[in-house]
Amino acid sequence: MHWSHAIAKAIIAERGARRHVVATGITPSGDIHIGNLREIIIGDAVRNALVDMGVDAKLIYVADTFDPLRRRYPFLPQEYEHHVGKPLSEIPDPEGCHSSYAEHFLAPFFESLELLDIRIEVLRADVMYKTGLYVGAIKEALLRRDNLAKILEETTGRHMPENWSPFSPLCDVCGRLSTTVVTGYDMANNEVYYECECGHRGVTTMGGGKLAWRVDWAARWKILGVTVEPFGKDHAAPGGSYDSGKRIAEEIYSYRAPYPIPFEHILLKFKEGDKARVTAMSSSRGTNIPIREILEVVPPEILKYLIWRVRPDRHIEFDPSTALLHIIDEYERDRGIGKGVAAEIPFRHFLTLVQVARGDFNELLAVIRRSGYEICGAEELDAIRNKARYAQNWLMRYAPPEYRFELQESVPEEALNRLSDTQKRALRMLADAIPERNLSAIEWHNKIYEVAAAAGVEPKRVFQAVYIALLNKPSGPRAGWLLASLDVEFLRERFGIASAGGSGHS
Ligand SMILES: [Zn+2]
Ligand SMILES: [Zn+2]
Repeated sequence: MHWSHAIAKAIIAERGARRHVVATGITPSGDIHIGNLREIIIGDAVRNALVDMGVDAKLIYVADTFDPLRRRYPFLPQEYEHHVGKPLSEIPDPEGCHSSYAEHFLAPFFESLELLDIRIEVLRADVMYKTGLYVGAIKEALLRRDNLAKILEETTGRHMPENWSPFSPLCDVCGRLSTTVVTGYDMANNEVYYECECGHRGVTTMGGGKLAWRVDWAARWKILGVTVEPFGKDHAAPGGSYDSGKRIAEEIYSYRAPYPIPFEHILLKFKEGDKARVTAMSSSRGTNIPIREILEVVPPEILKYLIWRVRPDRHIEFDPSTALLHIIDEYERDRGIGKGVAAEIPFRHFLTLVQVARGDFNELLAVIRRSGYEICGAEELDAIRNKARYAQNWLMRYAPPEYRFELQESVPEEALNRLSDTQKRALRMLADAIPERNLSAIEWHNKIYEVAAAAGVEPKRVFQAVYIALLNKPSGPRAGWLLASLDVEFLRERFGIASAGGSGHS
């Protein structure tokens, strides 16, 4: 049973087959990366499993657009220093292309969700506050400030300051949330009085500010009727925000905390010089890969699959190099990527084909046809174009050197000196054994074995000779596929020249 079905079963057993709301939420303070995506994929898988089991369930995503900017991140210009403390929805887009800082990072994320075919209802925290959805929760929090402080002290072990308030008004002079202190309120008129570090004393409505994060989370559960929520394991630690949220939900808001699905992080594995390094993904430290960037290298179904295949309580080491290729192989054992011919040709083989075609699309089509595939229709052409683009991008950005090759324009003279006389004899025999028609990958593979046997040489020495004659290196992609993608006339000539050239040795 897939883990999502096990979790859905547990949810139904514990909470019943009622209507379920699965909630996710990410603060758009920087590029939303694949580490963040795990939360959405888990939520999506559990929602789908609940629906499979006949339960009405929906997936929501609350964009924490009203969270303040915590500090000036390295990717922000100097002048953003004065935006620290303001809500992300009220800060200008650092690149000037969207209506706010928050929207700048949300837009590519939503595009990615569309590509990943994840249907999700989006809510924005700033809109929820501004339209008064939180008013009841804010009133309750202000009236029960002491109980809240006590819960937070008991769960976190931290002392709450004398002037702590569960509500932070937005200063209408300096625009910051993090610098205001509540000095009083008027329940009848929904007003809150405050003082700000900037010296301003003002009054705001109960939509003109934000609840403290731990209180906000619990209030949101009730406001949106959340019953299930995946979250990073740090929130699940003793004294973490789920512990306090659960008590706040139950004791202050009389609401049962959602069924928790804590999950492990996605770690990024990469090479630094010769050393492999593993690090947590972090937008602010620059050790992340934005989702849209990974979607230039792998199709969305693979990105989804690589997260979906691992149980939430196991961490994922994301290695965009060879390990990613193995995951693609694993996926393609059961189903193809793309449509028609594109789906029939494995990704690994596309790596060979695009390199044989040297990035030329028409040549790629010729290569594919030569390999024995028939291409029909515009849809198939598009699917080929897409898969070829992924293959090229992966080769360029993440492929280890052994996956890259260059088909040599002419016989590489100096490399030929590395061939023994027996290898040359084998190449001659191979040249002579090439028929007029194209051979399939399997036929090529068998032919090499036949020639090796007839020449009395180890097959691996013949393979090596083939790679040297074509690629100027002693190893390469699967030889059958490589040869099947090339023109037989070209191969006959190339092996002929190679068998005659060089000084040779035995
Ligand atoms: Zn923008
Ligand atoms: Zn102020």
